[in-house]
Amino acid sequence: MLRTDTPLYRRLQWLIFPALFIGPLWGAAVLIGAGYSVAIVTYGVIAAMWIAFLALEWLMPFRRDWNTPAGDLRNDTISALIAYGLLPALLKPVFYAMLAGAAAWLALQWGGNIWPTHWPLWAQLIILMLAGDAGRYWGHRLAHEVPLLWRFHAVHHSATRLWFFNAMRQHPVDKTVFTFTELLFPILLGAQGDVLALYLIATASCGYFQHCNIDVKLGPLYYIFNIVDLHRWHHSREIWQSNNNYGNNLIVYDILFGTRYLPKDEPITDIGLINPDYPQTYWQQFMAPFRKGNLDKEVGRRV
Ligand SMILES: [Zn+2]
Repeated sequence: MLRTDTPLYRRLQWLIFPALFIGPLWGAAVLIGAGYSVAIVTYGVIAAMWIAFLALEWLMPFRRDWNTPAGDLRNDTISALIAYGLLPALLKPVFYAMLAGAAAWLALQWGGNIWPTHWPLWAQLIILMLAGDAGRYWGHRLAHEVPLLWRFHAVHHSATRLWFFNAMRQHPVDKTVFTFTELLFPILLGAQGDVLALYLIATASCGYFQHCNIDVKLGPLYYIFNIVDLHRWHHSREIWQSNNNYGNNLIVYDILFGTRYLPKDEPITDIGLINPDYPQTYWQQFMAPFRKGNLDKEVGRRV
């Protein structure tokens, strides 16, 4: 663990996000441009990010107690394989097929491809992140405000500590809602090409930065990205705090719709669900939304 009272530590706090957001994107763009397989580059870069996050959580923890395993590794591993391995592979072709007619109709009205394939990749990535978040913001907000959807989304909020790996704890039904709302506008706009691989890397990086147990500083970037402290508040046990900060990668739609929440100089309160008896194994959590009873906190209330 690094000493926190050194100039090196303070510099690292500011450098970690730019390095682990821009670095993987730049590396992937160079390798894909050099002709390497898009799939191998994408998953190779994400695997390298896992190693970096693991090392930094150990070297610069935001909270030391969050580095202690809470019996969650098995649950989160199964969830990662299902919700982030199997499900996207099954769902994406279905959603593309469902929306193909609407996308073709829109392109016809536009007079050709809507997606600006001739723009630089970084500009396409910004448009894609804005398009993805436009739908995902509402998918996530509804998951908090509609009681039926909250039953499924509560699984993600059941984590009792935050570290990069439990970004992938998600009920399959919740993941389906999130994937559809996230892909809706990108598919309708006809997003295509290498920018999709870069988007996957950018989203993985932001997802890990949302949940990571690393002592990161962001400053004004808290008005662009919905990560680190903003997402820690989203995991608060207090409903009036957690029903905020819904963006997937960006905080811009929360600013637009009045749900950005980042109190100054206030320590993060306990995270997780109000119900202390919420189950913690994968299968119990898979079944939890279908069971009667007060399994989770009240929804639909913001102050
Ligand atoms: Zn949530």
